[in-house]
Amino acid sequence: MKAPTFKYLRAESRDEAYAAFTEYGDEGLVLAGGQSLMPMLNMRLAQPAVLVDINPISELSGILLRDQQLHIGATTRHVEVENSMLVAAELPLIGCAIKHVAHRGIRNRGTFGGSLAHADPAAEMPACAVALDATLILQSRAGERRVKAADFFLGVMSTDRRSDELITGIELPAQMSTDAWSFHELSRRHGDFALVGVAATAQRRSIGLDGLRLVVFGCEERPKVSKIAASMSLSRKDVAELATAVADDLDPMSDLEGDAKTKRIQARTLVERSLEDLLGGWPND
Ligand SMILES: Cc1cc2nc3c(=O)[nH]c(=O)nc-3n(C[C@H](O)[C@H](O)[C@H](O)COP(=O)(O)OP(=O)(O)OC[C@H]3O[C@@H](n4cnc5c(N)ncnc54)[C@H](O)[C@@H]3O)c2cc1C
Repeated sequence: MKAPTFKYLRAESRDEAYAAFTEYGDEGLVLAGGQSLMPMLNMRLAQPAVLVDINPISELSGILLRDQQLHIGATTRHVEVENSMLVAAELPLIGCAIKHVAHRGIRNRGTFGGSLAHADPAAEMPACAVALDATLILQSRAGERRVKAADFFLGVMSTDRRSDELITGIELPAQMSTDAWSFHELSRRHGDFALVGVAATAQRRSIGLDGLRLVVFGCEERPKVSKIAASMSLSRKDVAELATAVADDLDPMSDLEGDAKTKRIQARTLVERSLEDLLGGWPND
């Protein structure tokens, strides 16, 4: 199928984008990399009156380290994140997970902000943002709003973003030498969306771990921190028990890739691998 008819508006500045949001309201959609939006238009899953192209707004792109926070601009391409030395050094979880986002051709155009705005429950970057306790920066004519990633994702392709707001960037706390992280994904082929995945961070202590933020994705309607995992202190002898408890606490969606029971079994296996990573051994040591 072909996309429905729409107007194209090239925004040269944030103000031009905000003016379009005011004029068109819910009838206007942001165009970033177009890697999710264009297929949705072609399948008539979205029928906006106007696409507001934010690619010309140069200040929305780039990666900066400031006050121990890594700022990634909304239109930074996945491939720039993948190739960034700053990301590799300060956010190894993202550096690892970004390689699982689609195929290189799609990563060349797709953007970090677009991935978060699209909020696919099987996408890697929303899960990593929640595991890293990141903050999204949303701007509109009314000013700036900062929203924790854990509060931003509301459901399947549903977020806390208002239609007059632009995601301008995301702030992610740089990881310390005592921080542990883990990423695992099960997909049919490398580059496909996850059947199930796990992104996790924690702080290593002399005995066990603290502050465990373990996020299972591709399973429930949105990525969220496992409360069960966060409430337990972890040592090596508890791994199997905790993995079972985390998996039992999930509410998996059945989809074409598997039923809820299968997803729970897959998630349990990945959670166990992640907990073992966090406690030491590859890839954290
Ligand atoms: C074959 C294929 C495989 C893929 N596999 C994966 C995968 O394995 N993992 C994965 O995570 N993704 C995957 N993707 C999606 C890809 O990562 C997209 O890049 C991403 O989901 C959307 O980014 P985009 O910049 O292309 O956004 P667009 O397609 O331009 O926009 C997506 C949505 O977000 C909104 N939007 C975009 N930017 C902003 C902003 N700054 N502020 C407010 N709203 C905004 C748009 O209005 C639209 O509703 C795949 C895509 C394809 C086509």
